[in-house]
Amino acid sequence: MKHELVVIGAGPGGYVAAIRAAQLGFDVACVEKEPALGGTCLRVGCIPSKALLESSELYHEAKHSFASHGVKVGSLELDLATMLARKDRTVDGLTKGVAGLFKKNKVTRYEGHARFVAPTRLAIEGKSGVTELEADHVIVATGSVSAPLSGVELDGDRIGTSTEALAWPAVPKSLVVIGAGAIGLELGSVWARLGAKVTVLEYLDRILPGMDTELALEAKKVFEKQGLAFRLGARVKGARRDGDGCVVEIDGSEPIRCERLLLAVGRRPNTQGLGLEAIGVELDAKGRIPVDAHYATKVPSVSAIGDVIAGPMLAHKAEDEGVACVEFLKTGYGHVEYDAIPSIVYTAPEVASVGKTEEELASAGIPFEKGSFPFLANGRAKALGHTEGRVKILVHAETDRILGVHILGIRAGDLIAEAAVAIEFGASGEDLARATHAHPTLSEIVKEAALATQGRAIHI
Ligand code: NAD
Repeated sequence: MKHELVVIGAGPGGYVAAIRAAQLGFDVACVEKEPALGGTCLRVGCIPSKALLESSELYHEAKHSFASHGVKVGSLELDLATMLARKDRTVDGLTKGVAGLFKKNKVTRYEGHARFVAPTRLAIEGKSGVTELEADHVIVATGSVSAPLSGVELDGDRIGTSTEALAWPAVPKSLVVIGAGAIGLELGSVWARLGAKVTVLEYLDRILPGMDTELALEAKKVFEKQGLAFRLGARVKGARRDGDGCVVEIDGSEPIRCERLLLAVGRRPNTQGLGLEAIGVELDAKGRIPVDAHYATKVPSVSAIGDVIAGPMLAHKAEDEGVACVEFLKTGYGHVEYDAIPSIVYTAPEVASVGKTEEELASAGIPFEKGSFPFLANGRAKALGHTEGRVKILVHAETDRILGVHILGIRAGDLIAEAAVAIEFGASGEDLARATHAHPTLSEIVKEAALATQGRAIHI
């Protein structure tokens, strides 16, 4: 079979690239080794974790907050099987939705594992044998896999990664999470809300590396109040199954026993077994595929996008690269604004960030003003009963251009969208401060933080 364009991988990067390519008139095919489309994000990442975060938050609220609203519930019971089934239905609906979009856009789908046999030829190993595909151009969008940690023996049961932690059939009494990044904190929160005693071990002296330090400190205190225990500066040497539970060994302290262990120390590019070496594409030291500004590898017929190339491992970054990559191929133009890619951790409260942090600005010697406004002083936050956190805006001290926005608070993930658009448009703090924000909404906190960069917030 021959196609103009073949995309390897049907995650958010690959399936969006394939659909955009079809819109642009390419004869396009997408190869995916899993029976369901959608990649890690839809099948075993963003979507199922958000379904469980939502359900566990409702359970937690019913237990701890409903009474303060004057809502009395009788006996409260957790039905974990139903919660997991709902998550599975959510995933199923969305992955089938992608299959529907492929049909609608006439994207040809191949199920199997793709490997390069030549720069324009792929061998697809599927259930019914090997098929050869020819393509004028190939986009590699194979995503990432959980990073292993030396000494930690994953057994797919007691000691697992995020994939297993999305489907544990019972709430563990004790859970140790290795890594205080997005995955560790989101899934740690899910199981803590459902009743597990959760301990998060983090190698660094802080949680959420890469996020604003001040907000990360504040977030840690909030999570501690929710029952998460943190051990910072803890270097895990190893972990193994021991009877019905596991033992975790930490440098310089006593081993910890727990019922289950979640390894969440990052992800690594999924670039093995693709035959890249055979066609002359060499990987960098981190296993990523080097590309130029147009996502082209050094082999002219091969491009790469998403988690397999440099940059944050985020679904929306991969999607936008997929679109830009095929637009480059068709028109010679395409663009991703890397300074305006938001990043969100879906804990309660959420942590969201776009642009530069204070630390990054300081180390680059860029002069900035800072404006901060707490959720506590916002009417809507009070009415919601969720007053933790703040919005922090960083603007250039001379030009007032918005350089970074960092939010800890309820619905931070939605509030950050306005900041991303502002940065994309090169807006100033004053632009944001002058724009009318509806009352009573949480978005007023963003406006007030922008006002605060000029020392003129109203409600504080
Ligand atoms: P991460 O890199 O965000 O966090 C991993 C943490 O593990 C770091 O804090 C690191 O210091 C720590 N760590 C590393 N080695 C350790 C050791 N030996 N002992 C103790 N701690 C150790 O990785 P993650 O949370 O696994 O997420 C993986 C990727 O997936 C990231 O790129 C993340 O952005 C992405 N992701 C994003 C979201 C989201 O946007 N909401 C959700 C899930 C995953």
